[in-house]
Order: sequence, then C-alpha cells, then structure tokens
Amino acid sequence: MKKQIYLDHAATTPVREEVFSAMEPWFSSHFGNPSGVHQVSRKAAAGLSQARRKIAKILDCTPGELIFTSGGTESDNLAIRGVAWKALLDNRGKHIITSAVEHYAVEKTISQLCELHGFEQTVLPVDSKGAVDPKDLREAIRPDTILISIVYASSEVGTIQPIAELSAVAAEFNTPFHVDAVQAGVCQDISVKRLGVDLLTLSAHKVYGPKGAGLLYLKQGIELISQTTGGSHEKNHRAGTENIPAIAGFATALELAQNRKEEESKRLTELGRYLIDSVLKKVPNSYLTGSPENRSPGHVSFVFEGIKADTLLMHLDMAGICASSGSACATGSPEASGVLLAMGLDAELSMGAIRFTLGLSTKKEDIDYVIQVLPDIIQKIRTNY
Ligand SMILES: *Cc1c(COP(=O)(O)O)cnc(C)c1O
Repeated sequence: MKKQIYLDHAATTPVREEVFSAMEPWFSSHFGNPSGVHQVSRKAAAGLSQARRKIAKILDCTPGELIFTSGGTESDNLAIRGVAWKALLDNRGKHIITSAVEHYAVEKTISQLCELHGFEQTVLPVDSKGAVDPKDLREAIRPDTILISIVYASSEVGTIQPIAELSAVAAEFNTPFHVDAVQAGVCQDISVKRLGVDLLTLSAHKVYGPKGAGLLYLKQGIELISQTTGGSHEKNHRAGTENIPAIAGFATALELAQNRKEEESKRLTELGRYLIDSVLKKVPNSYLTGSPENRSPGHVSFVFEGIKADTLLMHLDMAGICASSGSACATGSPEASGVLLAMGLDAELSMGAIRFTLGLSTKKEDIDYVIQVLPDIIQKIRTNY
C-alpha cells in the first residue's frame, strides 16, 4: 500500500468510529424532522435536545444558548454579522475590533461589513510569536465598539491567545466578545464561563466529527439578527431543518475529545516538540513560526529559507506525507501569508510557510519518518531551483 501519513489535522480530522456509529440511526430509523408533532418527529427532536444538552455540559452553558449551524464558517458569519446588524438596527455604533491572525471566516466577514455598511475595524497587532496583547485591546475599545472577535488558536501558526484576559478587558467596557475556538476543541478548555466569552464558535470536523456541522454559543441576553430567514428553528437564530445525524456525531465527537484532552494534549505536545527540535537541528536555515511554548498541541509550523511552500508540499506528498501551507484555505495562491507578515516575518521567507498538524492517529514512527526524509527533500529543492 502507498505510504500515507496524515499531518493536516488543522484542515480537517477523520470521523472517529464511535462518532460514525452515533450518527447512523439518525439517517435510518430515526430520520424525522424535529419540528413536527408526530412520533417520528418527536424521536428526532429528542435526539437533537440530547446532543444539545451534552454539548452544553461541556461548554458550561445552558442548552438554550447553543445555535447549531453548518460549521465554523457559518458560526463566525452569524456571530459577527448578526451582532453587527443588531447594533446597526439599534444605532449603537459601527466599530469592530479583531486581530491580525484571524481565519478568513472572521476577517472577510468584518471586511464586508466595512464595505457594505460603513463599519470601521481596528485590527490588533500581534507580537513576533503571533500573540495579541490585552493592553492593545484596552486602548482600541471606543464608545462605539459593538463587537470584539479574536481567534483562540491560530490555524496557521498555532499560537494560543490569552482569551480569558482579553475577554476580561471587553467585559469592563461591556462589549460583546466572540471567540473562534475551532482549533481549540480537542485540547483546550472551552468552558465559556472560565473563558468569559459572550459568543463562541466550534466546528465538528475539527474535533473528529463530520463535516457540515458547527455551533455558535450565544450568551443569554446577547442579541443578534439571523442570517437565514425562514422557519423558527434554533430559537429564530438560524432557520433551516437541523442536520441531526451530523449534530449527533458532533456531540459524541466533542465529548470524546474533551474527556481525554489532558492526555492527548500531553502526547501531542511531546510529539510536536520532538518534530520541532529535530527539524530545527537537522535542516539548516529553518525557523519555527509562532510561539515555542504557547502553541496548540501537535501544531508544528516552519519557514525554510529559499523554499517555496508549494514545491515542498509537492515533494512531501510524493513521499506520502500530507502537510499544508500555513492556511489550507489559501493553498494555491502564491502570496505571502498575512499572518506571518503581521508577525514581522520577511515576505520572501513567508512564502515557505508550512505546517504539520498532528492528531489522534499520529505515532512516533510517523514523525521519525518525516524527520528522516524532510532534510533530504529540502536539500534537493535548494540545489535544484
Ligand atoms: C476550519 C476553521 C474555520 C472554518 O470552519 P468550517 O467548519 O470548515 O467552516 C474557522 N476558523 C478556524 C480557526 C478554523 O480553523
């Protein structure tokens, strides 16, 4: 069989067997639409509320504070545009604060609000490790600030933001705080109480659940305007029949991940550390991007002098290693990464950004193999181009 080492868990994760089994009944015997009144509907509605309760317990909130969506992108859109439209309606202000290391789902939604509705944004800078400073947030908040949106863990460089500190600043000014926690579901604390956040985004397929399901935690009392209009699903926050099989799988996946997060974080941190140390030692002119300590477990990102990410990825793929350039969504575009530029990295070097993201199935021998072949591949590219 052809070698295949999957090191792209920040892009997506495989569905766990237990998750797959948990989904099956909702496709077959319990196929009902949860909005109806008869027994088939009631069965589906019971499944939906069971999943909601399960997730609420993990997030430390009430089931009524959860809105199921089609994924992280939709949840980010709903959080930001929904809160912004409500502020527009109430004439409360048009200023949004975000950071320079956001996912496109956040960045582009805010930019669109600026273009279409005249919102203004302050993009908080990051330090060379990719971290936002709560002091900068404090200085950026204005009387007309209606939302702050900061990512929990960067998908590109793995840096973990000090969310509880940032949200505490937001709370002092009574400004709603949204966190995109998509990359944090497997290894981080996602209690909305301890994080002190008002809105939180998660996605099922980043936590070993299926693609096409996500959620937005919306704290009781925070109002938003729905982006999809139609039926009264999800407390009028998101019209459309809920994707019950995917939601059931999401709940199971999140529960399994969070139940083992300490062990898995420790294991992934050690494996990641081993990959980082070995590559930096064996490959001349290689640099870790992001923070050496304060990073998502199993997230490993580098730049290599004189190397373009696309070329390296192609060679790695031929060797059976599935990695990706900084942002999976930006693959194919030969531009330097905005995140790396914001961290002060040189534009030329930024073109070589590559990430290996480890996960449940990753074993030490997989990392040994990467360490064995990567230095030769890089040397070959450097001498041939
Ligand atoms: C993957 C990702 C998203 C988008 O989630 P989808 O479910 O794929 O739409 C949003 N934010 C971050 C940080 C991500 O890594």
